[in-house]
Amino acid sequence: MNYHLLPFTFTRISNHEVLVNELGDMIISPFGTVYKLVNREPVDEELFKSLAANFFVSDTAIPVLSDIYALRLREKKRFLDQFTALHIFVLTLRCNQNCVYCQASSCNEDCTSVTMTMHTMKKAVELMFKSPSPYLTMEFQGGEPSLEPKLLRYGIELAEEINKAEQKNINYVLCTNCVDLTDEVMDICKQYKVMISSSLDGPAYLHNTNRGKKDSYEKVVAGFERARSILGHDQVSALMTTSELALDYPIEIVDEYRRLGFRSIFLRALNPYGLATTNPDWTDYTDRFIEFYKTALNYIIDLNIQGTFFIEEYAAIILKKMITPYTTGFVDLQSPAGIINSVLVYNYDGYVYASDESRMLAEFNDYTFRLGHVDEPYENIVYGKAAKNAAKYWSNEALAGCTDCGVRTYCGADPVRNHSTQNDLYGYRPASLLCRKNKAIIEYIISLIIERYDEVMPIFKSWLL
Ligand code: SF4
Repeated sequence: MNYHLLPFTFTRISNHEVLVNELGDMIISPFGTVYKLVNREPVDEELFKSLAANFFVSDTAIPVLSDIYALRLREKKRFLDQFTALHIFVLTLRCNQNCVYCQASSCNEDCTSVTMTMHTMKKAVELMFKSPSPYLTMEFQGGEPSLEPKLLRYGIELAEEINKAEQKNINYVLCTNCVDLTDEVMDICKQYKVMISSSLDGPAYLHNTNRGKKDSYEKVVAGFERARSILGHDQVSALMTTSELALDYPIEIVDEYRRLGFRSIFLRALNPYGLATTNPDWTDYTDRFIEFYKTALNYIIDLNIQGTFFIEEYAAIILKKMITPYTTGFVDLQSPAGIINSVLVYNYDGYVYASDESRMLAEFNDYTFRLGHVDEPYENIVYGKAAKNAAKYWSNEALAGCTDCGVRTYCGADPVRNHSTQNDLYGYRPASLLCRKNKAIIEYIISLIIERYDEVMPIFKSWLL
């Protein structure tokens, strides 16, 4: 047979060969298919038609429909078109909780010199508007940003003022633990439609242990109710972080989110930053997290089968890349990486970082991803030395280990994590625990599609509507 191979990678999952092309199209085929294709041996006629129709093989060196291929590839990389959309403002490191896994190196409420000045806020907002993106998300983080209501109001009002001329589409997000949402903070949120992004680790015994406070759970739940009653139910979302203790409670955590009226959960692993670096055995944690994730995902699928609509958000992000022509705005699974391309961080001290994780490293005197200062010109920050250096390592298409990985199209590049865990921006995939986790989860989702197609596909598609 005479035909040309187009770029694709493959892997073996559930006794099948899974072929994935650069567009994210996936073909599930019998063992030996790739061998036959490479050697131009005949394969099943229907399979071959499918391979040809989905840009895995072509009669001509340049496919007749190469314009369509280009358009589809462009859609998959659309997040690059408009550059940075997410702008994180770290208002302060002050905090009123004491979480065991704190990744932000927060300090207690009495700390001084860890809060952003009005000057820094002004310069940071002005820099944000330099981004060509017509969509901006202004996300306020800490520490606990609700401890700084005047700064919060100033930042939003300044953005609103500048936006009278700029006419961008701006969303505001307050990342808060919800334990002490004052009237002043609620007024700001109501006036400017600020979304509340909070965190809840599960049932009371789990949440309170993680937070280092006996009554944190009660306060957080009361905070959710208060915020929902003032801002609207859908204006409040929550994230969980899987502490070591949480690994034993996948079902209980999902049930807690349902009980509190959430329609989804994001099963999120710990990151090795901040206080979380004290975890003694990251390999063991990663393997246990993978099992935790599978148990929770299966439970969520069962709930859906029984008629309860409930989404696992991490799976939904991967599925969007897998079964739709579109990309996602999720910065942790992008190539080129989300750092700078999709997110910038303005730290309380005036320095600008490539990502949230980058500013966390700086608290431990690692300034590799410090891009510049808010007083510098925008171009010096996003096209400066640190940004250019990171750019050498931010495409998984060009990283050894990733380039021929069977699930690369669904994964992302993360030079910050490579640097923090392997002391090397390039990274070494066989020893990377992030790679291990991502690969295991992506392959598990594919295995569900192979083994339980009729059962899971209607559910997975419903998560993407
Ligand atoms: S990080 Fe691992 S799973 Fe992701 S693309 Fe690279 S090799 Fe594949």
